[in-house]
Amino acid sequence: MSLVVQKFGGSSVATAERIMAAARRAIRAKQEGHQVIVVVSARGDTTDELIELAHQITDKPPAREMDMLLSTGEQVSIALMAMAIQSLGEPAISFTGAQIGIVTDSFHTKARIKNISTQRIRQALDEGKLVIVAGFQGIDEDYNITTLGRGGSDTTAVALAAVMKNNNGAGSQDVACEFYTDVDGIYTTDPRIVPEARKLDVISYDEMLELASVGANVLHSRSVEFAKKFDVLLQKRSSFTDLEGTWIVPESEWMREVVVCGAAMVKDEARVAIEGVPDQPGVSHRIFAAIAEQNIAVDMIAQNVGVRGKASIGFTVLKNELPSTLAVLGPLAASLGAKIEHEDEVSKVSIVGTGMRTHTGVAERMFAALTDAGVNMKMITTGDIKISVLVNRADGVKALRAVHQAFGLDKMRAGRGLLGQLVQGAFKERPAALVEDGGRDLTSITQNLSSMEDIVVSDVLLSTDQGRITIFNLPDQPGNCSKVFQAVAGGGIVVDLIVQNLSGPGRAQLSFSVPRNDVLRALQLTRTVAKSIDPGIDVVAEPDIAKLFVLGVGMRTHSGVARRMFGALATRGINISMINTSEVRVSVVVDTDRGEEALAALKEAFHVP
Ligand code: ADP
Ligand code: ASP
Ligand code: MG
Repeated sequence: MSLVVQKFGGSSVATAERIMAAARRAIRAKQEGHQVIVVVSARGDTTDELIELAHQITDKPPAREMDMLLSTGEQVSIALMAMAIQSLGEPAISFTGAQIGIVTDSFHTKARIKNISTQRIRQALDEGKLVIVAGFQGIDEDYNITTLGRGGSDTTAVALAAVMKNNNGAGSQDVACEFYTDVDGIYTTDPRIVPEARKLDVISYDEMLELASVGANVLHSRSVEFAKKFDVLLQKRSSFTDLEGTWIVPESEWMREVVVCGAAMVKDEARVAIEGVPDQPGVSHRIFAAIAEQNIAVDMIAQNVGVRGKASIGFTVLKNELPSTLAVLGPLAASLGAKIEHEDEVSKVSIVGTGMRTHTGVAERMFAALTDAGVNMKMITTGDIKISVLVNRADGVKALRAVHQAFGLDKMRAGRGLLGQLVQGAFKERPAALVEDGGRDLTSITQNLSSMEDIVVSDVLLSTDQGRITIFNLPDQPGNCSKVFQAVAGGGIVVDLIVQNLSGPGRAQLSFSVPRNDVLRALQLTRTVAKSIDPGIDVVAEPDIAKLFVLGVGMRTHSGVARRMFGALATRGINISMINTSEVRVSVVVDTDRGEEALAALKEAFHVP
């Protein structure tokens, strides 16, 4: 029998009336012949109100008690939902996370799911009941209540769908996961911030994963990670209508023609720079390991090319994690003889699109749009299918709108009009023309996971066909980067990694990689522009570099990936000179003559044959 997991967000259970509407929807699914699991969030703004209440008691609520408090919001919702369904004449039973054995690690307020036992749910479903589960919560091995991070009910829903699908004694069960909310789907950007945003019919897992991880709070990024990892079909749709929502599915050929599918912003970021660190193997590992130890996710990372034995490392964290980040870094920087600089009035704006893998000039268009809007970029990092820039918070919305417009996101996307039904059909009957499979052996991948949230690394690759251009002391003003990339793109040269970091008062360092055959031409073009900006700017070329890629799922939000990567290289004394992170790929640049060795080290670290 097929199974539907329906997740209702806070707005969809805010009032008794809405709870009744949600209950009717769940019953309808059952009457259509499915088994039904309903996952609910806390009602309306309950979670925010509880947090506020805690802060009225103390400035620093202990994380364990915070979880005890916040989990109550969802518990209210499940009880009411079960009552609603029963009042409509259908059998239903509610469960907290602990009751159905959602076991997590012990990182309170941002716990990760280790495993879920399906027995109790399966039994209730087989008895013909609708099963109502509290989202967002679990229990650790010592029976402490934990929560999964804001927005975590999404992750509960997909995790349940994933285990039900893959741990079905009789084989894989047909499982779908629907998210009911106050928007009718996934938009090109948050429609509350940019009203001209457009709804997408379909988006790929990678695009959604990347968008969610760069700030599109429409789905919890880990929920998309689970969906991709365990092959769960998702749909985000309105709880107020029966309109088709947005399908989140594996990537297909036509998506690659769309260069940019969406944009997003993280409003409250903080930038930290550690200046004057010894440019030696293992230093970045020490820094990022110490931060990861505290379960703080580092966001953008931009490591400058060292000058006279000293390098500077710039990175961002969420603004509310700045104090704990500084607390970790203080003693470390002192022991390295380095200086820490930080600011917390910054926002990150990103664009995402599968087409970036094959189309050139994307960065250049983004930077030109920001320049035209008069926005200065403090940091730039690129990933496989995303580009992020850090700007002053005051410029955030302006920057988001500018890039949204520059990529025509307010216009129809190619492939629009594809009926969701068609997509769903193709997904089920894979391999089919519409949706590609990617050739993954899911059964063996999932069987090899000791915990649901293990990192899945599918490959480690080495590329030695690139060189690098570095510009030192570029004046930190709007338009300079844009000029550089316009010139390089004008020469028909494809730019891959881009890293820009502030390198001193009013100055930035910009590095990018280009195909080795184009290095000399890129150097000439860059020098010419640089001289026109300021004759004192230095431009150097490194004709060959070794680039290593680690490919997988959820690479950036697992604070452990970068740590493991740096650790594996550090223990062999291999220095990292550039880093780029995204949800599906982490890249590092090392000296050419250490490339093969680094490849072997990373394969070993990530157990890739
Ligand atoms: P729920 O409470 O149902 O989990 P959320 O509030 O988490 O719902 O998600 C819905 C909200 O996400 C919308 O109201 C919208 O403002 C916001 N949002 C952010 N980015 C996007 C996007 N790209 N598309 C649609 N909604 C978005
Ligand atoms: N109630 C939690 C929150 O507001 C979890 C969720 O809604 O997904 O973050
Ligand atoms: Mg949500």
